[in-house]
Amino acid sequence: MLIDAKGDGTCVNILVLGKFIPEDKKLREDLHNKQMMWVLTQKINEREDKNFSRKCLLCRLQFKGCRADYLSHLSRLHNMQLGQPENLVFIDDLLNCIETRLESLHCLFCNKLFKNQTVLKEHMRKKQHKKINPKDTEFDKFYIINYLEMGKNWRQVKNEPDDDDDDDELSNAENSDRRVSVGNWSDWEEDEDKVENPVVCLFCERSSSFDEIQSHMNNAHGFDFTRISVDMDFYHQVKLVNYVRRQVYMGHCPYCDKILPNRRELLEHMSMESHFIVPQMQLWDQPEYFFPTYENDSFLCHLNDHQDDMAELHLSKKMEEDCHIGSC
Ligand SMILES: [Zn+2]
Ligand SMILES: [Zn+2]
Ligand SMILES: [Zn+2]
Ligand SMILES: [Zn+2]
Repeated sequence: MLIDAKGDGTCVNILVLGKFIPEDKKLREDLHNKQMMWVLTQKINEREDKNFSRKCLLCRLQFKGCRADYLSHLSRLHNMQLGQPENLVFIDDLLNCIETRLESLHCLFCNKLFKNQTVLKEHMRKKQHKKINPKDTEFDKFYIINYLEMGKNWRQVKNEPDDDDDDDELSNAENSDRRVSVGNWSDWEEDEDKVENPVVCLFCERSSSFDEIQSHMNNAHGFDFTRISVDMDFYHQVKLVNYVRRQVYMGHCPYCDKILPNRRELLEHMSMESHFIVPQMQLWDQPEYFFPTYENDSFLCHLNDHQDDMAELHLSKKMEEDCHIGSC
């Protein structure tokens, strides 16, 4: 472009870059399309790869299978919520980033430094910091939404008004998808006052905070979970909870396996026979009970997962022998 920079009539030729220059705009669009293709190809490869193998970030489980199941393990067993697998890309790098942060004893959400793993884990559990902070730009590259529009990330997309005039059905569908995922992000903001993800009693339909449900189970059913679980490691607690849930769901007494026609009669039976006690271990110490009976069973998220490392190592070895998780 020729301009009279000094104002004396002598023109200088300067090179201008910007979206308003057609060639520049085209170049940017081409690059964006190439990047989109690259990201989507990567995404498809990750989704179809069933030979993903990695140690769990939060327990000693050596996982084999597909990435979606690994993320589901993190979510269901450890309440670590990284988002829907279909919204994520470069999952291996994402997990590396999280691992590095946790190993350096920094909280995933607030990035605070802690003196050891136990204190860090306790902080993340209590504060519900087992998630990614939407303000943390280090993680932007792992969310597909940030690649969808040229030069924009989800923060900018979120602030745009909805484009109702768009008559292209596909892009409308994409738009609503984006709204959903952006909505999910903002849902992650903390609200410590309300009981988030209420916990349901193992025996009746009552639901409340974990502490309240523990005292309810103790008072109403004589089942003191705190006392019962004190000598149990994390995995045994998980198995016991999942077993009791399954039995109660099927209308079987968890202790004697008697079948009752409904929940009321089941509770009556358990109360009359004093069967609100820990069933024989061989009944529930089975690999199938690593898996929750109910999706998103919040009870599991409150189990004490601070095991002595040696015990954890031993257990996870045992778990590997017991069970091969990861069938897709
Ligand atoms: Zn795990
Ligand atoms: Zn934190
Ligand atoms: Zn109850
Ligand atoms: Zn019974």
